[in-house]
Amino acid sequence: MKIIPSIAIIGGGFCGAATLIQLVRQSEFPLNIVLINKENQIPKGLAYSSFNERHVLNVPAGKMSIFPEEPDHFINWIRSKKEYHIFADDELPDTFIPRVIYGKYLEEIFNDTISNLPDHISVNIINDEAVDIDLSDSGNSVKLKSGSEIFADKIVLAIGNFLPDNPKIRDNSFYNSEKYFQNPWNRKAVEGLKDNDNVLIIGTGLTMVDNVISLTDIGFKGKIYSVSTNGYFPLSHKKRKPYTDILEELHPPYEISKLYSLFRKHIKIVLSKGITGEAVVDAVRPKTQEIWLSLSMEDKIRFMAHIRHLWGVARHRLPKNIFLQMQDLISKGRLEIIGGRLQEIKKISDHVLVTIKEKKSLNIKELIVSRVINCTGPKTDISKIDQPLISNLYKKGLIVPDEMRLGINALPDGTIIHGDNTLSTKLFTTGSLLKGILWESTAVPELRIQAKSLAGELISRLYSNKNANA
Ligand SMILES: Cc1cc2nc3c(=O)[nH]c(=O)nc-3n(C[C@H](O)[C@H](O)[C@H](O)COP(=O)(O)OP(=O)(O)OC[C@H]3O[C@@H](n4cnc5c(N)ncnc54)[C@H](O)[C@@H]3O)c2cc1C
Repeated sequence: MKIIPSIAIIGGGFCGAATLIQLVRQSEFPLNIVLINKENQIPKGLAYSSFNERHVLNVPAGKMSIFPEEPDHFINWIRSKKEYHIFADDELPDTFIPRVIYGKYLEEIFNDTISNLPDHISVNIINDEAVDIDLSDSGNSVKLKSGSEIFADKIVLAIGNFLPDNPKIRDNSFYNSEKYFQNPWNRKAVEGLKDNDNVLIIGTGLTMVDNVISLTDIGFKGKIYSVSTNGYFPLSHKKRKPYTDILEELHPPYEISKLYSLFRKHIKIVLSKGITGEAVVDAVRPKTQEIWLSLSMEDKIRFMAHIRHLWGVARHRLPKNIFLQMQDLISKGRLEIIGGRLQEIKKISDHVLVTIKEKKSLNIKELIVSRVINCTGPKTDISKIDQPLISNLYKKGLIVPDEMRLGINALPDGTIIHGDNTLSTKLFTTGSLLKGILWESTAVPELRIQAKSLAGELISRLYSNKNANA
């Protein structure tokens, strides 16, 4: 009997689903694909199964096609749907569409792929948690929480983001309290509040904004505080002509001090032309992976320590209407942004006392709130992730953190580098776990390219190099 090559994909969010769809699109050869997913809905994952219709994409529709080879696929899909004709046609590519609509788009393509599989490809979808992986010359297996085992020639980790880390405070016991919501993407974080309650959101980025939208949508009347070390607030997307002059001077070898001076020079130029500084960041975006890959370790550390937060503010912006809504809440005193360091969070009877050392004044500010929501962004150090799959793979040395501890050590194409420094021929990854390697490994414009190239790589390893399959 001829054995058909098999691929197990762990995680059925955007990355896992897009890799599966690309495997089906690209493979001319027989293939068995198994998709293993827990919790979030396939293929929407965490981001696109949002519970609030006013949570919008942070990337304009024109850049959200699932297929890099068909950049207008998403906007053409929107145009083909009568119910979405409300999105003005000429402005559609620049429009920030609700994430639930994007989830429906992914769902339709995924279902269409599964219902029209070519005869040489089979797909098996398993709703379960992968808890361990064994790699051996006699066969590789994924162990599931239910006790079953899945055998596969190649295994892809597409498991998305982890919950945020608990910020450092004097006494961590508060983090066991029912007043603390570590998962900012769960609707429970914003439910069950009373009119006279106040809320503290730790973090001042896009997830904070999502939570503020959810709170105001359900009629929350209390005050919302949002704190981060710098107190930077997200900027607004603006319509403007692309600025690309910086690209003429942007050549390897890259060094952070030279890049910094180049940025300052071009930001001055754009400001003098009445354009905002983010135009320079947008211009460099297609080159970010190339730059990051060639920076020295010292330069990466310098970037993380001094520039990362500013870069994040310029990169992750808000649609203008949401930005204005936030400014309105700030001007009415309903939302207060605080720059400072958390010192202490304590439960006192039915309330929570929060102490913050303010960045500018160094004063100690005390807040009384009813709830604390953690919007500081996903935890990235895999050596500290308390999930069976990650901790088992880490203990065995099958995965190790990259040198920046932002994800897994791997090659840019997703080939995992094991703890003994050997290149895996069986285990691959994609998505945010590649952040330490690529820096930009977060949003659809780069994730769809990863899905396409990883699928091509897996097929060619299975079919053109049988030795790599051993
Ligand atoms: C709230 C939010 C909004 C975002 N908005 C945008 C946006 O507007 N535009 C954009 O381009 N990007 C956005 N992003 C970035 C987003 O991360 C990517 O676009 C993309 O959705 C990531 O997909 P993923 O498959 O890597 O992760 P996920 O969608 O999280 O999928 C991972 C899946 O793996 C499953 N899983 C994890 N561990 C296991 C296991 N052990 N066994 C089985 N299954 C497992 C999870 O349950 C989940 O279903 C957003 C991210 C978030 C969190």
